[in-house]
Amino acid sequence: MTKPIRVRYAPSPTGFLHIGNARTALFNYLFARHHGGAFIIRIEDTDRKRHIEDGERSQLENLRWLGIDWDESPETHEQYRQSERLDIYQTYVDQLIATGKAYKSYVTEEELAAERERQEAAGEPPRYINEYLGMTDAEKAAYIAEREAAGIVPTVRLAVNEAGIYKWDDMVKGEIVFEGGNIGGDWVIQKRDGYPTYNFAVVIDDHLMGISHVIRGDDHIANTPKQLMVYEALDWEAPAFGHMTLIINADTGKKLSKRDPNTMSIEDYRKKGYLPEAIFNFITLLGWTPGGEEEIFSQEEIIQLFDENRLSKSPASFDSKKLDWMSNEYIKKADLSCIFDLAKPYLEAAGRLTDKAEKLVELYKPQMTSVDEIVPLTDLFFSDFPELSAAEEEVMVAETVPTVLTALKEKLEAMTDEDFQPDTIFPLIKEVQKETGIKGKNLFMPIRIAVSGEMHGPELPNTIYLLGREKSIQHLANMLEKLA
Ligand code: GLU
Repeated sequence: MTKPIRVRYAPSPTGFLHIGNARTALFNYLFARHHGGAFIIRIEDTDRKRHIEDGERSQLENLRWLGIDWDESPETHEQYRQSERLDIYQTYVDQLIATGKAYKSYVTEEELAAERERQEAAGEPPRYINEYLGMTDAEKAAYIAEREAAGIVPTVRLAVNEAGIYKWDDMVKGEIVFEGGNIGGDWVIQKRDGYPTYNFAVVIDDHLMGISHVIRGDDHIANTPKQLMVYEALDWEAPAFGHMTLIINADTGKKLSKRDPNTMSIEDYRKKGYLPEAIFNFITLLGWTPGGEEEIFSQEEIIQLFDENRLSKSPASFDSKKLDWMSNEYIKKADLSCIFDLAKPYLEAAGRLTDKAEKLVELYKPQMTSVDEIVPLTDLFFSDFPELSAAEEEVMVAETVPTVLTALKEKLEAMTDEDFQPDTIFPLIKEVQKETGIKGKNLFMPIRIAVSGEMHGPELPNTIYLLGREKSIQHLANMLEKLA
């Protein structure tokens, strides 16, 4: 009998949703939706020291923004936060102690630290050495009594089968094998404060929630044998495991990390006005490909195409230039009204939400990688004159430049405001060409630089039109003065 497909994303609310987390959530989501299974969100909040206020809300909000939805979560289901499940973990801790598969450990932190130091000095790998080793039952009872009398609170450790072999057929990496003797000895399943450790709680939860496949980052590979030990101790069937390869930052060649200043959280992208569909599409291709050249896919297409057998075995490359390219593709394709709505808050904050605003957004939409760029892109419409770069200066020192600018300025001055229309500006430039005999780059480039302060940009007649007749004249005059 095959188990129903149930997968989960289990964030620890110790930080905001970053690219790596988002990918884990997204691949679990795609796997569930592709196979018609359930996608579950569980909050792993047992590390109280690293807990971040608002971490959970922000994770869920940003997942929703990305277009991910889920079937079960703490919002709709009780005890979907680990901190609310302590009684459940206690039941299984007690059961393992009763069956001799776990035991209370009274060794103190100081003793553990001293032992670690000794092992390090001796060049031995760090491991816990069973404190009861070689004790008779009577000695053991005396040791426990003495420590309890001294007020030492025990942890609970799993009695590891040192001879056991722990292996699984990883969905991404193929067969992975660990020896029970190599994982550092009997490990703690319950801390002194009564909280379970991650490797213990995760097994209880995954089992009780009927999780069929655990898909997560490969930083968890070394945890998996420990988790398999718990499945074995409780005589439960383990789920399938798939460990996705790490993500490398293409700019630095280093592992993408939340602390890397070059990478942003999902919330940062959202604040900058990236489209969620673009981020969704981009993250999907971090370690997965449907094959072929095409890279732009809708969410429905990705769900349909998703195939866990095509998860990459080699590291995924996070290339911010590719993200910007993709983002620009999505902005170009999006409706003007959608981009204009997104642009409004940025324009408003800059005091630029004028009656020309929608036209400006239309003018610059083909150029934007994120919608917040609308503000710097429209600088020339709202400031007196932008500084020129060295390359721009070089164009402007040509002998023919003042002739071209003067001719255009005179024509604009001779024009009425009614005549000044989007389709009357190009003929005007053509007249300048006829009159002066200057054409091509020598004609268009100086005009573009004079009016817009940029060598590249949207269509020239449109730029002039949006800038307005007076302001264009002003810019041409400013430039002529500068050149004189
Ligand atoms: N809370 C763990 C994390 O944030 C989840 C690991 C897992 O998926 O088992 O990495």
